[in-house]
Amino acid sequence: MALNFLSKTVVLFGHDQHLNAVSVYLPVIAHMSAIRKVVKILKAKETIEGAGVRLHRAFGYYEVPNFDPFLMLDDFRADRPEDYLPGFPWHPHRGIETVTYMFEGKVEHCDSMGNAGIVGAGDVQWMTAGSGIIHQEMPKPVKGRMGGFQLWVNLPRVNKMMDPRYQEIKHEQIPTIEISEGVTGKIICGSINSIVGPVHDIIADPEYFDITIEEGVTFSHPVKNGYTVFTYVINGEGEFEPNSNQYLHNHELALFGDGTNVQIRPNKYPLRFLFFSGKPIGEPVAWGGPIVMNTQAELTQAFREYQDGTFIKIQD
Ligand code: FE
Repeated sequence: MALNFLSKTVVLFGHDQHLNAVSVYLPVIAHMSAIRKVVKILKAKETIEGAGVRLHRAFGYYEVPNFDPFLMLDDFRADRPEDYLPGFPWHPHRGIETVTYMFEGKVEHCDSMGNAGIVGAGDVQWMTAGSGIIHQEMPKPVKGRMGGFQLWVNLPRVNKMMDPRYQEIKHEQIPTIEISEGVTGKIICGSINSIVGPVHDIIADPEYFDITIEEGVTFSHPVKNGYTVFTYVINGEGEFEPNSNQYLHNHELALFGDGTNVQIRPNKYPLRFLFFSGKPIGEPVAWGGPIVMNTQAELTQAFREYQDGTFIKIQD
């Protein structure tokens, strides 16, 4: 999606202090306890994007570098699907990956390389923009319903100009497994109980799960030390750190400190949440709307190329 690209063209030239800056990655002292603690809770904020659609942003620009290698999570579950019809007309991406997970309705997309398709309910599109894609994404309700999520994943310096690519995953390709009694999970990327999700070869080494927990059971999942881990609640109420007495609800995100395991239990059930983990990149972030590079000079170059028609490096 566009990230204010169309509504704030000033973003193109790097003058908007709210959307353009160079942030330096600050390493955090590792907290080595086995069970990860919740170090930050965020409530998604209503945001206007694209050609005027209204969505909820769980985190984004202002949270760099806390979520490294992740840049943004937008929740576009729609109370009023008609709010989304203006969509996200033609806009560029460079230096990142965008991951669209649809719950209901569909997104029609097409791009500068001649690709076109539909991301339907339960489907995932993992798009690696790399050196550059110009595309449009147009959400459409089906039987009056529309909703989904878009995650942005950063690329390290050596991969920012890689060739663009897609992994288009249909819902029937995403394994839904019983992780333990009362806990089910859709595995988009990564693995649980040796069941591997269909998205593969992503540089950030991410996990992306959609987990549902019923009454009275705990979801326990091993995570790699040093990796960024967060969850985003989409139904119910849950405790994301044992004995914290802190309960998260729909539209709330928990960012975890370091450790080797997460333990999550429902308070109101079924508790459903998205789970993410990934390997931090640890590089400077220069973020200009839909383009994320390492330096301001690289951003300036990207927008100059977009203006003069040399942005796209791979035609088909
Ligand atoms: Fe986009």
